[in-house]
Amino acid sequence: MTFEEIKALDDQYVMHAYGRFQVAMDHGKGATVWDVNGKKYIDFTSGIGVCSLGYGDEGWQQAIADQAAKLGHISNLFYTEPYAKVAQKLCTRTGMSNVMFANSGAEGNEAMIKLARKYSYDKYGKGRGTVITLRNSFHGRTITTLAATGQDKFHDYFFPFTEGFRYANANDLDSVEEVAGHDVCAVMMELVQGEGGVLPLDKKFVQGVADLCQKRDWLLLIDEVQTGVGRTGTLFAFQQYDISPDVVSFAKGIAGGLPFGGVMANEKCRDVFTPGTHGTTFGGNPVSAAAACYVLDRIDDALLEQVKEKGAYIRQKVEEMDLPCLGKTLGLGLMIGVEVKGEKTNRELAAALIDNGLLCLTAGAGLRFLPPLVITQEEMDEALAILQRTLSSFKGV
Ligand SMILES: *Cc1c(COP(=O)(O)O)cnc(C)c1O
Repeated sequence: MTFEEIKALDDQYVMHAYGRFQVAMDHGKGATVWDVNGKKYIDFTSGIGVCSLGYGDEGWQQAIADQAAKLGHISNLFYTEPYAKVAQKLCTRTGMSNVMFANSGAEGNEAMIKLARKYSYDKYGKGRGTVITLRNSFHGRTITTLAATGQDKFHDYFFPFTEGFRYANANDLDSVEEVAGHDVCAVMMELVQGEGGVLPLDKKFVQGVADLCQKRDWLLLIDEVQTGVGRTGTLFAFQQYDISPDVVSFAKGIAGGLPFGGVMANEKCRDVFTPGTHGTTFGGNPVSAAAACYVLDRIDDALLEQVKEKGAYIRQKVEEMDLPCLGKTLGLGLMIGVEVKGEKTNRELAAALIDNGLLCLTAGAGLRFLPPLVITQEEMDEALAILQRTLSSFKGV
């Protein structure tokens, strides 16, 4: 089908819930994608941090095909090998104790919030269900995770939202103390605020929050849906912050493109969920679990080292271009934000870049780059050349 045919069909039959770019994608290889007209794009999105190994990875295809041929799905009432194995890999590489699977980031965060509330209920009884989150955070699109998200623009239309969330300012420990109370059971945060603008939290602040959690028996909940699975240069970002979270959620990049997510918890939280208290039909699906096993095996120390180097390279090159419409770069590993200044919005710059063959994202008021972790030197250089060519004509403020 041509782009026009696909678009016409989609416009008629699909809800208009996304502000789409006018491109229909067809296939990809590595960090390169082609649209249905055969036009080529370098990918700085990974499908929003999902395709960690890029497109068309042969081992990934094989892992999926083999598991699909063996057993495509079975209920959580039975054991499967890939399920147990991916749990083991996650725990042994992070020091966490046990996991519960889900299908998405929002569901992982829901599980994390439920776990914190039940932990507190089991120990202290009712009235201690409030979770402190940070302003400018993003935790998902379900009614509860929208409520957890500390941005007013997400708190509209869908009333009533779930109660029991209070917001503190990032990098401001006093502000966390100010909203604290006897009703609090946990603090939940991203270590690099992704949707909010790729803003890494200060290590001192994060450690301060961790100490506070320890003192008051609040659970420390880390949302690693975007920062996890190698994105920031360590398997999980918390491993760079010298903290021991109680629960960590993950999703996006974990299965390299298949829907998969969940939470990992420490020993203290092992027995919070008991049979019947939480569950999901698809969570831990064996095909997704087999893909996740493959992805985790590929993300070894050598690859993580490359993530750091590639991230530093892209940021250095972008800063050296000194383009009038861009400000400074920020982020961690291959999670990169670029400030936008001047007369064009970040969305307009992203549209121009996509038009010229570079797929990128926006976050906050800036641009966001989340290339596949396996992006090659040639692909990075091609992307950077497109960036320079496209954006040098845009004026600054
Ligand atoms: C994307 C994201 C989510 C939501 O994940 P979904 O899979 O879209 O539900 C939650 N938290 C963070 C930090 C995210 O980046």
